[in-house]
Amino acid sequence: MIKLHDLQFKPMIPASKIEEAVKAVASKINRDYAGCTTPPIILVVLNGSFIFASDLTRELDFACEVSFIKLSSYSGTQSTGGVKSIIGLNSSLEGRDVIVIEDIVDTGVTLSHLDAQLKELSAASVRYCTLFFKPESYKQNIEIDYIAMSIGNEFIVGYGLDYNQLGRSLKDIYVVCNE
Ligand code: 5GP
Ligand code: MG
Repeated sequence: MIKLHDLQFKPMIPASKIEEAVKAVASKINRDYAGCTTPPIILVVLNGSFIFASDLTRELDFACEVSFIKLSSYSGTQSTGGVKSIIGLNSSLEGRDVIVIEDIVDTGVTLSHLDAQLKELSAASVRYCTLFFKPESYKQNIEIDYIAMSIGNEFIVGYGLDYNQLGRSLKDIYVVCNE
């Protein structure tokens, strides 16, 4: 058991299982992009996916570019509060094949904001890859092309994922204890 801020967490997925899942998802991506003529752009959504992205990209066997973005909430008085905009994108996606790397897709609200904005940038194709997916809470129609692992509706930390900034550096995945 470990304690982060006010919560207790217990081990859930060991590093060895994560490694297997990352390699399995990488081989699917490798199959799909084998022989691609223009290198795809891997778009890493920070912060949570930094470890996943670094392990995943090193398993890819085709030439690719790697770019990093963040999603930031609009400040101000818009009634659309909570809409997240892309920040930090410094390469053009026009005409490019894009593979978005996410740490975890829960309700999919974040993914839908991202998808709406990427649609404006005239990429040739956009595919989504996530380390974790919560099928019971996903409420969008956007297809997630590559899912490394599906989990239940539980809060996890480790391997890049945080609880209020703590827990990102843990090698294994931990799940919050409810009692
Ligand atoms: P969504 O918009 O899909 O509901 O949520 C996506 C974001 O919520 C993720 O990028 C992540 O920041 C956060 N999130 C959702 N579930 C978890 C979880 O189990 N653990 C952690 N650490 N973050 C989560
Ligand atoms: Mg995320």
